[in-house]
Amino acid sequence: MIEVKNLLCRYGDITAIRDINFVLQKGETMALVGPNGAGKTTLLMALAGHVRCHSGQIDFNGANITGAEAVDRCLNGIGLVPEGRRIFPDLTVLENLEVGGYSRPKTEQPENLQNVFNIFPRLHDRQKQLAGSLSGGEQQMLAFGRAMMSRPRLMLVDELSLGLMPSVVDECYDALKKLQSEGIAIILVDQNSDASMAFCSSTLIMESGHQIWSGASHQAPESSIY
Ligand code: ATP
Repeated sequence: MIEVKNLLCRYGDITAIRDINFVLQKGETMALVGPNGAGKTTLLMALAGHVRCHSGQIDFNGANITGAEAVDRCLNGIGLVPEGRRIFPDLTVLENLEVGGYSRPKTEQPENLQNVFNIFPRLHDRQKQLAGSLSGGEQQMLAFGRAMMSRPRLMLVDELSLGLMPSVVDECYDALKKLQSEGIAIILVDQNSDASMAFCSSTLIMESGHQIWSGASHQAPESSIY
């Protein structure tokens, strides 16, 4: 589904990530772990098309998307739940979800909304509420729901549990399980690396911008760096 080869991204003169290589198939899950500044967010942003790649290649469903715009990647099935949620606070819950679904035919919208509401019933109850007045956990659910509205085949999730109560974190992991059961592949960054590695069958460990280990999560080396 997605194959990344020798990816390198820079911010000006700073090389943020380099020598990144992995393959992820339909419905597979990969935890991205590493200390602060390791390059996890940059890698997710590069996959979503928000950070430019200077060399290397990203293939998605057999097509080379290395130079594709973020909007086209979204249309092709790459969804992003960004760090800090980035919901639109002055729009209602429903309007936020509609924005997420703009790339899909309008006729699909009721079904896509229902799909989101089945996973997050609380969003259904708060459809008319301004997103900025939601709790942190509800905002995370909305960020998930917004990404789901574009019917992604690959979901990129950055800092899943940041600032959330444990019960809300559990709900978010339950949502991820449901998405995975629908065949959606997931790349997950969570400050609680034990939780992300327990959820994901594979793990890629990053340090100082490059990958130092990748493989089955249960075989990951013990480490104090992540
Ligand atoms: P954290 O866990 O702290 O969020 P991270 O693993 O997600 O860290 P990145 O945010 O991807 O790491 O940062 C990787 C490197 O790129 C860091 O050295 C960071 O300072 C640098 N960096 C990130 N964003 C920018 C930017 N917009 N301009 C310049 N350098 C940046």
